[in-house]
Amino acid sequence: MANNAEMNKFFDDVHWLMDILQNIDAGLVVMNKKYEIELWNSFMQNHSGKSPEKVLNRSIFAVFPELSEAWFKHKAQSVFVLQNATFTTWEQRPYLFRFPHYRPITGSAEHMYQNSTIIPLPDPKGLVEHICLIVYDVTDTAVNKMAQQQANDQLQNLSRLDHLTGLFNRGYWELRLIQEFKRFDRYDQPSSLIMLDIDHFKKVNDTYGHTVGDDVIRQVSRALKEQVRDLDIAGRYGGEEFGIILTNTNSAGAAIFAERLRITIENMVVYSEGQQVRFTVSLGISQLTENITDHRGWIEKADQALYKSKEGGRNRFTII
Ligand code: GH3
Ligand code: MG
Ligand code: MG
Repeated sequence: MANNAEMNKFFDDVHWLMDILQNIDAGLVVMNKKYEIELWNSFMQNHSGKSPEKVLNRSIFAVFPELSEAWFKHKAQSVFVLQNATFTTWEQRPYLFRFPHYRPITGSAEHMYQNSTIIPLPDPKGLVEHICLIVYDVTDTAVNKMAQQQANDQLQNLSRLDHLTGLFNRGYWELRLIQEFKRFDRYDQPSSLIMLDIDHFKKVNDTYGHTVGDDVIRQVSRALKEQVRDLDIAGRYGGEEFGIILTNTNSAGAAIFAERLRITIENMVVYSEGQQVRFTVSLGISQLTENITDHRGWIEKADQALYKSKEGGRNRFTII
């Protein structure tokens, strides 16, 4: 039998342990096999707003209806039976308990993101009659990671776009052209390609300067964006050359589109640097057929059509 000094030391140790459990910066919940709460530390009390008197000896599912009973029991059962710890990350499940989280920087109140572990608590005979759920606040990590993900997505999007016009840049546009070419192989739906080039653009630059030239390019892009449908793919192919992939459109449909765009641009006046600039564009149309064996061949055909429009006097479209 332990003497008095040993007993005192034992109670001191337990007292310290209890202090640590209470003050540790993680949630601790000890439960029995009926999922009744037997220990509830300050972290849990502070974040849930529920005092130990309100939760002790009650089922965790009665106290927290948001906790999925089927999911949690499935997890906990493996801890009771296999006596192994199990871990859940915020990426698998953003939280177990919906605790508010006030973010001082953004000022927005959102929920706390949580990682959690369930560990077995064997008794001296090695039987697991209790488990301990440990809840970690990982909101900062989660928010940072999500912000980083968002930034990456934006960056990826940015590298697809041409800086001057906001249209797709050549690299990305060509990828989409290849994709459309492959799709055609499989589904046999009509697709048309239009190449567009501004007429006598060197003269615009020479007469009004490069800045005005840039504004002209921007205005053409704006007209393009306004007239394409959601499924069409418009890109800046070169300096003042544009490519437009019209999905599910035959050459007759593409001709209607091209003529409308041609008239819009013919009637457009660009006001830039105190100047008023009028100009025209030429277009070449090529509908995808079995004879075209790769996407380069498709561009070449549309380019030949464009050349014919130039040769024929400009400000027109040609179908090949
Ligand atoms: P055409 O009717 O035969 O097309 O005659 P063009 O003068 O337009 O001839 P071309 O298409 O070969 O001329 C392209 C010119 O566009 C040459 C280049 O200086 C100019 N250019 C290319 N990129 C830009 C740009 O980003 N901004 C400006 N301002 N000019 C550009
Ligand atoms: Mg030109
Ligand atoms: Mg050109």
